[in-house]
Amino acid sequence: MARPKVVLAMMMHETNTFSPVPTTIDSFRPLAGAAAIAELEGTNTQFGGFLDVARQIGAEIEVPIAAAAHPSGHVQKAAYEEMCDAIVGGIRTGCDAAFLALHGAMVAEHVDDGEGELLRRIRAVAPRVPIAVGLDFHAHITPAMVDSATVVTGYRTYPHIDMGETGQRAARTLVRVLNREVEPVMVWDFRPMLTSTLEHTPSRQPMKDIMDMAIAAEASGTVLNASLFGGFPQADIPHLACSSVIVADRRTDQGKAKALLDRLLDMAWERREAFLYRGAPLATQIAHARTLGEGPILLVDHGDNTASGGTQDVMSVVEEAMRQGLEDVVAGPICDPAAVARIIAAGTAAGVTLDLGGKIDMPQLNLEGKPLAVSGKVTRVTDGEFVVTGPMATGTRVRMGRTAVLDTGTMQIVVSEMRAEPFDLGVFTHCGIDPRRKRYVLIKSRQHFRAGFEPIARHIVMCDGDGVTSSDLRLFDYRKRRRPLYPFERDFPLGGTAR
Ligand SMILES: [Zn+2]
Repeated sequence: MARPKVVLAMMMHETNTFSPVPTTIDSFRPLAGAAAIAELEGTNTQFGGFLDVARQIGAEIEVPIAAAAHPSGHVQKAAYEEMCDAIVGGIRTGCDAAFLALHGAMVAEHVDDGEGELLRRIRAVAPRVPIAVGLDFHAHITPAMVDSATVVTGYRTYPHIDMGETGQRAARTLVRVLNREVEPVMVWDFRPMLTSTLEHTPSRQPMKDIMDMAIAAEASGTVLNASLFGGFPQADIPHLACSSVIVADRRTDQGKAKALLDRLLDMAWERREAFLYRGAPLATQIAHARTLGEGPILLVDHGDNTASGGTQDVMSVVEEAMRQGLEDVVAGPICDPAAVARIIAAGTAAGVTLDLGGKIDMPQLNLEGKPLAVSGKVTRVTDGEFVVTGPMATGTRVRMGRTAVLDTGTMQIVVSEMRAEPFDLGVFTHCGIDPRRKRYVLIKSRQHFRAGFEPIARHIVMCDGDGVTSSDLRLFDYRKRRRPLYPFERDFPLGGTAR
């Protein structure tokens, strides 16, 4: 193909259907054309990976939209329609291929399967255009997604440090399709089980053996692409599950893809109990942290994690750390725009007493927001922006809005106007705090903190704080999920669980 025209688009959101945080079109900060390319070229993101391959083949590149939002509640109908219209419109005008950076766990107010519906609409206007789709490891796979895409790949890491590579893997297979080297066929399946996001990271067991097998099959050329998806538990949708997609070459595959698919998913199913998180009382966890030796000791507040849809303003872990008298702590960021305004109005070096965090109720968990009264000195005010230097989303710009540091004497608390998960040291270093020199580092995260913070930590203590990303799945009222679904139901035969 002389100079193929490629439509490259991004529409990414992991929807926590239990989250009270609204998801508007502004949450996505949509870009298009040259502005999108300028923002994302050379970054370790799916879009960046797709762009690399498009450049390598000398493609004419069109970007109708590049939009990504932090995880939060249902995507508003108007936002979903606007993004879909942009992508479908971009492809409808004619192209040789489409590269789509998606998530796989997007739920809109009116659509449970955000990605499947988008792909179905694209297929309706472009029945033959080859489509490469990249997905997050937390995706849920549906027939609409697999039926409408040509190639699907997913992240193989969590924290997601292979986002760029995932885009490249999908795009490279699609380039082979354009060159008529391969004729892809996809097989997929699922097992009716939930895996805790605290336990399913592919770098550790029980997932490691399974993901390693998928990686080996792809590396050896047994199949074109092999991906496994842990799923995202905080989503009340019918297709909630652990699933896998294998891309094979129709001309050479002799049942290899299906055999691999079954092996991967059977292994996951056999290990289902090991994928469950077993918690402990928060007070016991903080008390344990007090007994540990040298810092930095990470206190991981995983019940209120922005990258899973948390409000980022739940104060229970901070409160318990203060109650037990922890000293030399840096904590945050806490998202509280009203508090930031108060702090900035007070000015640097001023003493402030205010009700911090706890501004947002969580009705789906029957939890009311509970602010914490704190007093401290304002030591720093920033614009909340920095460029990521760690291994996850390297090169992207984080925007936390105006940000301030409140020092209580025992705890430096970073407070920001907007939400951002701490996966890079920049959340603290950009405001003059070196977390390597602190005894305790209290962060709101589940796994992504491992990208930037695990290398500096001497100890990691998981803290079962409150919030809409709690690991205690009994707290969530699922109405749409499939039944039976492990671990809610435990003894059931596998056969007959319909797609
Ligand atoms: Zn994810």
